[in-house]
Amino acid sequence: MKFLFSLTNFFIGCCLASHAAVISDRFEKEDFIFKRSKCDYCGYELSLLDEIPIISHLLLKGKCRYCHSPIPIKLLIIEIIGGLAYINISFNQKSGIADAILIFSLLLVAICDYEEMEFNLAMLVPAIYLALITEINRFPSYRIADYIEFVPILILLTYYVLNKKLGSGDLFIYLILAFYFKPQFADLTFLSASIFLIIHFLLEYKDNFKGKEVAFIPYIFIGLTLQLLIH
Ligand SMILES: [Zn+2]
Repeated sequence: MKFLFSLTNFFIGCCLASHAAVISDRFEKEDFIFKRSKCDYCGYELSLLDEIPIISHLLLKGKCRYCHSPIPIKLLIIEIIGGLAYINISFNQKSGIADAILIFSLLLVAICDYEEMEFNLAMLVPAIYLALITEINRFPSYRIADYIEFVPILILLTYYVLNKKLGSGDLFIYLILAFYFKPQFADLTFLSASIFLIIHFLLEYKDNFKGKEVAFIPYIFIGLTLQLLIH
């Protein structure tokens, strides 16, 4: 039963992630709610059968059905990570729906950050709203431990932002995670994000990564996915 629950959630997550990729691609440009996905090369509108996350990709061997141009592998990766992020979400509860919206908002920002090193703040509005509502309700019950987990990291991140070593978007997302989940959850998310980033850089660039600019939010999202899976 648990397996079926996880599998269904994984599939819902894949679909949401697939749609997030479309929105990030067309934000402020085209209608992204009702128009179908298109092949980037031949412009052919994909049928519903071509849009089943992961399965279509595997069946079509990662190629457009019509012009056989390769479909970027990153779409498959986005779908898989998105699917994993949603595995433990209880869609039948109010809190689960809030979780789902928050995750979607962050995923959208992560994809945009990855593609363009920037994102539209409007994408974060649902997450900011949910984080503030949660924080207002929970604030009176904060313990000393919560402040110890929160304040030093906040000061450190602010210091990095002021010195332009970190984008203000990253700080924003730290606050959202700390408010919506818990400071400790946000700390662990950022810690795992940093570890993923270091491993990726060591594998990809070996030792010449000095001065390289990186989009950090995708790593934060992967760290978040890990925390959501193990919590
Ligand atoms: Zn095509």
